[in-house]
Amino acid sequence: MAIRLRRRSKPVLLENKSSWSKDAKKVWIGGDHPVAVQSMTTTDTADYEKTLEQIYGLAMAGCEVVRVTVKDAPDAAGMPHIVARSPVPIVADIHFDHRMALAALEAGVAKLRLNPGNITDPKKTREVVTLAKSMGTPIRIGVNMGSLARDLEERYGHTPEAMVFSALRHVDILEDLGHTDIVISLKAHDVPTTVHAYRLADKKLAERDTPYALHLGITEAGLPREGTIKSSIGMGILLWEGIGDTLRVSLAADPVEEVPVCWGILKALGIREKGFDITACPSCGRAEIEVVELARAVEAIAKEYTAPVKVAVMGCVVNGPGESKMADVGVAGGKGKGAIYRKGELVGTFPEAQLLGALRVEIEKVIADQYPDFIHETSYERQPVA
Ligand code: SF4
Repeated sequence: MAIRLRRRSKPVLLENKSSWSKDAKKVWIGGDHPVAVQSMTTTDTADYEKTLEQIYGLAMAGCEVVRVTVKDAPDAAGMPHIVARSPVPIVADIHFDHRMALAALEAGVAKLRLNPGNITDPKKTREVVTLAKSMGTPIRIGVNMGSLARDLEERYGHTPEAMVFSALRHVDILEDLGHTDIVISLKAHDVPTTVHAYRLADKKLAERDTPYALHLGITEAGLPREGTIKSSIGMGILLWEGIGDTLRVSLAADPVEEVPVCWGILKALGIREKGFDITACPSCGRAEIEVVELARAVEAIAKEYTAPVKVAVMGCVVNGPGESKMADVGVAGGKGKGAIYRKGELVGTFPEAQLLGALRVEIEKVIADQYPDFIHETSYERQPVA
């Protein structure tokens, strides 16, 4: 069954605007561009070397856009270095102090994220928007349930309506100033509110014929297990309905851990492909090889590649041959040995100790035949300090 077509959204281009950053990737958000994977650094932005180290780590893991908080003058001073040397577009996260937004724009960030609940003076907002517009820098209106505009909170409570009206109020300000490179996010910490908020935003934006791109996220989703579950359900529902142009999974963990979860959501829905798709049976009393151990070993091999190879690891002959034949490469266990299949054809039967090596050989054949353009990603080049 096909998922619903993506909602029609207005694309924005994320591009670091620094003469040193010309080699950094450019990323489109919205339109018919792929749903982009984002994350956010947790380092002290003022320590730009440490922050860049985390950005390289995120980019290596497959993160396509990285947000960095700019809370004070030392952070702002680090931004030119970060923007110049980042391999991916940098988004500046701004709360309370509009001067930080102005500094981040001057540093050449690819996008600003403003929290409408936290910069309340329309004059200051206008100053920021005018500069962003003149530089061609998109703005994400990032509404969080925890920091709504007071009057809307009083009128609507902590509801999806309050979030959406808060976002639309700021859309009006940006539009009045002629700046329509807009992305919107509406993050709550629970799944039902988040889903309702994005659905409502989709509807309201369609009604006013301004289908701005939507950045999905469940804020403060929790520790990795709970956060992954909440994010997968919430964003999975929305993406399945065609809502969402970019996503960030927020985990109380090293941000690098967020990236495979984003990719896992997109891969599970069949929206994007990157890296292996490993099917492994849960194992049971019938298993005739160590399924979990073998699947973990395949998962370790998978870290070396970006090609979307489908691998099946199955414990016995009940479903093993069938699943293995449907994968690019599969193994079906049987009494201390295993039958290996490539593209539906039996390659041979190998003793259990040789299965991993034999699987790797067949995986590499599939990559060479089917995905010759997918290369091993080893590192991103560091660029000189601006
Ligand atoms: S494939 Fe075999 S070992 Fe794996 S869960 Fe099914 S019956 Fe059990």
